[in-house]
Amino acid sequence: MSKFWSPLAGALEPYVPGEQPKDKTYIKLNTNENPYPPSPKALKAIADAADADLRLYPDPTCDLLVRETARYYGLSPKQVFVGNGSDEVLAFAFAAFFDPAKPVLFPDITYSFYKVYAKFYGLTPKLIPLDDDFNIPLGSFTDGGEHGGIIMPNPNAPTAKLMPLRDIVTLLESNPDRVVIIDEAYIDFGGESAVKLVPQYPNLLVVQTLSKSRSLAGLRVGFAFGSEELIEGLDRIKNSFNSYTLDRLALHGAVAALQDEAYFRETTDKVIRTRERVSRQVVELGFKATDSRANFLFISHPDIAAKELFLRLREKGVLVRYFASPRIDNYLRVSIGTDEEMNAFLTALEACV
Ligand code: PMP
Repeated sequence: MSKFWSPLAGALEPYVPGEQPKDKTYIKLNTNENPYPPSPKALKAIADAADADLRLYPDPTCDLLVRETARYYGLSPKQVFVGNGSDEVLAFAFAAFFDPAKPVLFPDITYSFYKVYAKFYGLTPKLIPLDDDFNIPLGSFTDGGEHGGIIMPNPNAPTAKLMPLRDIVTLLESNPDRVVIIDEAYIDFGGESAVKLVPQYPNLLVVQTLSKSRSLAGLRVGFAFGSEELIEGLDRIKNSFNSYTLDRLALHGAVAALQDEAYFRETTDKVIRTRERVSRQVVELGFKATDSRANFLFISHPDIAAKELFLRLREKGVLVRYFASPRIDNYLRVSIGTDEEMNAFLTALEACV
């Protein structure tokens, strides 16, 4: 605690991002980035946007991108919100929709940023325990108990497990007066998006990102889709922080990335194929793996502690992620890389067990 910090700064428990090593010698499978480069069309659009117009402020409403995204998903532009990565969109959503007088519900094993936002906004999280197979117990979210809103990723992180759309409908219908946020950071790797439910459910907010399936983690572009009422709520919060949403480069890169459907399909299909193969191979090496619908695997070995495996793999030049939290402290999260990277990972893993 510094004497210069406000009580708020002193009380925070900030998120610790995954390691971004300065040298490129590691096979980096620790932060769920896409191993393939962004669409060449997106790269060209970014280069083209880096012109003399950079002296001008960007469009505060991100009109071009909002319209392109609305077209892509068959929504009205008034049902789309854009932010600097989905982390920022989520931060605004916590502020816009969760009432500090009531607990906000999320699974006990989930994206660890949710706890950080809850703390920042003075909310009380109520953690709903996943069952032994890491399934989300719907009943605990639909039992009519008093709460201020619900948030969860689908697929969940870091378990990689997908919740079927019919369960999301149940969540929405049993909580009509509360906002239900579905964080779809990994939805493009084999899940069915809840975006199609937006026109029917005014309490649904779907959050997405270009960081994973569009290989643009470095550009920082995220979205929210919801009823006009919810999007207006997000705009109120955004315009109280920083009204210039995206910079000019991100805006044009994002539009071009969304337009390059063929490249998106090709690279996500490759990631999915590699995931299925590697998932089978880690099981052959004696690991247990959840049924992943994301761009990462969640695996554990019956005899070797995850931290030990993490350290052994690191020594061999492969970076993965392990978790200190209870219940998952014996699991590794392994992002899906290229086939060559995953072969090197498998060779290193085989030497560890
Ligand atoms: N949600 C989940 C579940 C994530 O794992 C991540 C990535 N760490 C994010 C949101 C944030 O992604 P970004 O800010 O890059 O859009």
